[in-house]
Amino acid sequence: MAWPRLVGERDLDGGEDRMDETGVCQSCGEKLVCIDIDPEETENFAKSLAKLACEKEARTNFAKFQEWLQRHGPFDAVVDGANLGLANQHTFSFPQIMRVVNQLRQISPTKKFPLVVLHQSRVSGGPAQHPNNKKLLETWKRAGALYSTPQGSNDDWYWLYAAVSSKCLLVTNDEMRDHLFNLLGNSFFPRWKEKHQVRIKPSSNGLILHMPPPYSLVIQESERGSWHIPTVTGDDLETPRQWVCATRM
Ligand SMILES: [Zn+2]
Repeated sequence: MAWPRLVGERDLDGGEDRMDETGVCQSCGEKLVCIDIDPEETENFAKSLAKLACEKEARTNFAKFQEWLQRHGPFDAVVDGANLGLANQHTFSFPQIMRVVNQLRQISPTKKFPLVVLHQSRVSGGPAQHPNNKKLLETWKRAGALYSTPQGSNDDWYWLYAAVSSKCLLVTNDEMRDHLFNLLGNSFFPRWKEKHQVRIKPSSNGLILHMPPPYSLVIQESERGSWHIPTVTGDDLETPRQWVCATRM
């Protein structure tokens, strides 16, 4: 075996070694594989998610949301409004959510609006009173792309269920590691998250959508026998995805 090399998704040290966006290792030229998620597994997960949500939330509220989704979904993307309104901001920013919504519309094959989930209090008081924001909310509502979760609800259940049941992208910078997400277990949820979570990153040109990788973050052997080992488990913005590439001589 050749000496293993560390391959970063971003070129960290100015060297040649990097993993490109499509998952081709620039050190050995092999491509990382994508292990697909079984749609049936996703449907089962959506069912157990709904069951849990009905236990934790007011059942009638959540059932009402499920009916609403039946009528307006499926979506290409779901936006965690509370998280994105505050991401890298001191005060809640509707324009920031709008920029994300518009970018998602552009990449949607049918130019469909993503679903924005926001707690009731966010769509009635505070910045929601500003005329421009009022207009925005009205536009999303008319397009069937805004759901405001009722008083006393935890909106996390709502956006997560919407994304899982629509089998679509979920935009949030929430790393989904707190108590609620611990209830979801470790077998399916981390794999689902890896393939569906989009994060936003500020840049000099505005916001960048950080899309899920087109390959799986697992130890894998390529066709010609090189091994690629991810050095970080999970995926977040602060720690760039890095791989150890070990090729056979
Ligand atoms: Zn390699």
